[in-house]
Amino acid sequence: MNPQVSIVRCKDYQPDLVEAGVRQAVGSLGGIAKFIKPNSKVLVKPNLLMAIEPEKGIDTHPEIVRSVIKLLKEINCEIFVGDGPSVWGNQAENVDDVYQRSGIRPVCQQEGVSLVKFEHKRWRKNFPLTTWLDNCDYLVSLPKFKTHDLTLLTGAVKNLFGLVWGTHKTELHKKYFQPEEFNRILVDIYQEAKPALTIVDGITAMEGDGPATSGKLRDLGLIFAGVDCVAIDSVLAKIMGVRPEDVASIKEAVSRGIGCADINAIEFPAEKLADVLPARPFVLPQTSLKKKIPLLAAGILKKLIKYYPVTLRENCIKCGACVEACPNKVISMRKRGVVFNYANCISCFCCQEACPAAAIKVGKSLFAKIIGL
Ligand code: SF4
Ligand code: SF4
Repeated sequence: MNPQVSIVRCKDYQPDLVEAGVRQAVGSLGGIAKFIKPNSKVLVKPNLLMAIEPEKGIDTHPEIVRSVIKLLKEINCEIFVGDGPSVWGNQAENVDDVYQRSGIRPVCQQEGVSLVKFEHKRWRKNFPLTTWLDNCDYLVSLPKFKTHDLTLLTGAVKNLFGLVWGTHKTELHKKYFQPEEFNRILVDIYQEAKPALTIVDGITAMEGDGPATSGKLRDLGLIFAGVDCVAIDSVLAKIMGVRPEDVASIKEAVSRGIGCADINAIEFPAEKLADVLPARPFVLPQTSLKKKIPLLAAGILKKLIKYYPVTLRENCIKCGACVEACPNKVISMRKRGVVFNYANCISCFCCQEACPAAAIKVGKSLFAKIIGL
């Protein structure tokens, strides 16, 4: 059977509009009970990157979470909401801060459902995932649609990285720092996590140097839903203006025979993809431009084209989040601000992702500047 991706318009985050949009997106696929058995235990996983207010457009909006909770309540499910945000230092305290500022805790309190932390792990293959996957019968994943400086897009597959236990996310970044390797891990996690349903918050999306404070918000006004995360991400790629095969996690999944990246084979039971394509493509992360070099030249040129983090001193609030986030521990805090030891920098941009003040930008090697990448 061909995979289905429902696309529904929703102009902003007014609660009644979001609820109607989520209801329509899931309804056009056959309704929530088609994917989740009534009376079951469900883990709902939004994308909570950092402790930041919903209007900043970095975390999945709390009204999306509320709407999904309401649907699950209608079939008497026991609901657990949680994520493993990329926080460092005092893990438990910082996760509390993320839940509060993102608006997820207030929504869970108002709706009377459990908000959980990913405190325990079970090893699967070569990574530990939260035991909440074992404790629940189903996973409902709620990604935020954004560009990503390492994976090009963060959507259905990438959201599952938050299931990795605690600070082990940093270890995976360090161990699999080449984008191709990192995307292989993402697909491994997808195969383990197997979400029953994915609903993407694309009402306010992000373009440019996403996925955090250095990206730019893009009003898109769309909600996406489906089961096949590869198909969903392929649709997001088309909306961004890139080919699905240019997204490494999609390419990796297809090479393993997982999911569908053929847009012509995907069914759209709500809005048709052609009717919602934006007038202009997304601005891509600067780091993704390297991927555009033709393969023949890639071997030589890619070595000369380097991207690395640089700080905007006027933005830096000296919070130290980047120092904690760096998997290779190559950032130190000085009186004048943060300093990088570039010799051991792996250009993973975890520091940029962790920065709450848009104080880390992408620097380029001279050759990259000369050829305009
Ligand atoms: S300095 Fe930034 S880009 Fe370099 S290794 Fe550390 S986190 Fe990654
Ligand atoms: S660069 Fe960003 S994350 Fe690092 S100390 Fe400054 S504000 Fe904090």
